[in-house]
Amino acid sequence: MQAFFSDEQLLHEPRQFMRLGRISAPTDLPSRAGSLQAALAARGIAVQAPPDFGREPLLAVHGADYLDYLENAYARWQALKGPGVDPGPEVLPNLSPYLSGRVEADGRPPCPSPSIVAQTGYYLSDLSCPIGPHTWRSALRSTHSAVAAADHVAAHGGAAYALCRPSGHHAHRDRAGGFCYLNSSAAAAARLRRTHGRVAVLDVDAHHGDGTQQIFYRRADVMTASLHADPAGYYPFYSGYAHERGHGEGEGFNLNLPLPHGSGNDPFLRALDTALAALAGHAPQALVLALGFDTYKDDPISVLRLDIDAYREIGARIGALGLPTVVVQEGGYMVEAIGPALDAFLQGLGRS
Ligand SMILES: [Zn+2]
Repeated sequence: MQAFFSDEQLLHEPRQFMRLGRISAPTDLPSRAGSLQAALAARGIAVQAPPDFGREPLLAVHGADYLDYLENAYARWQALKGPGVDPGPEVLPNLSPYLSGRVEADGRPPCPSPSIVAQTGYYLSDLSCPIGPHTWRSALRSTHSAVAAADHVAAHGGAAYALCRPSGHHAHRDRAGGFCYLNSSAAAAARLRRTHGRVAVLDVDAHHGDGTQQIFYRRADVMTASLHADPAGYYPFYSGYAHERGHGEGEGFNLNLPLPHGSGNDPFLRALDTALAALAGHAPQALVLALGFDTYKDDPISVLRLDIDAYREIGARIGALGLPTVVVQEGGYMVEAIGPALDAFLQGLGRS
């Protein structure tokens, strides 16, 4: 197995995260990557830096206006500094504009205002995704890792692992959210579509993969399925419900399986079997697995109760599909647990 990661992905170092009305310590720590790297090294899996693809693979899943915003927001924010004006160390929104929450709605036009303050409200959907000096570069390189893994799988088959940090699955076509800026799983799926007619994205992170769902909601060529904690009481709250099944040509190509909070291995694995059966009905030729470990019972933001054995079982079920598979790392915030979780997953996958 080949893994992909760039040291530039460590540069993003968020300082603030609004939780329950308080500015709190961030959970997406750079040390997460070290724990995952150690697990790869222990299994003798080589890690390669991805090529610098630039923006090109992102344009398949994100609007150019959004990419312009993300790339330049920090410098523009700092340029606000002047007499009596002292912008904070990170870009964060002052306001939340009205947005259609309807997942079947068309994408939005570019932000009508040229103001960096207006655009920050428009393009950052919550207070968990501050933009610091290196955020764009880290997010870009994180997505490059996923694209390189897709290219590797397209060329050689089998499975490849993209150590994506920051994560991506909450990033919509034109919105950052939930620690995510650029949607690496979606970019990998779009990349695989160049060589494979039908691609599936299966998301087993604790949170609904709302960005990935939105990006492919009207498409039949990329099926999306997500298992996650019931969003009625958990981020991202506004989507992830079972009645969201896709729209237009994409009708029937999105599957959400929300789980009761407190669910452990057995209900999670049963839901996984349901998702795999549904995916099999569409006969995908390649798979992107959006793999999160914030389902772990002791994760600081988890409401699910998986133990390490679950990740071995997930790996075994994915490996048994025999599909070309890109594994994209999503969440998982208990630094001491995510290495053993990845190790168990890879053991189950049986291809390392
Ligand atoms: Zn998550």
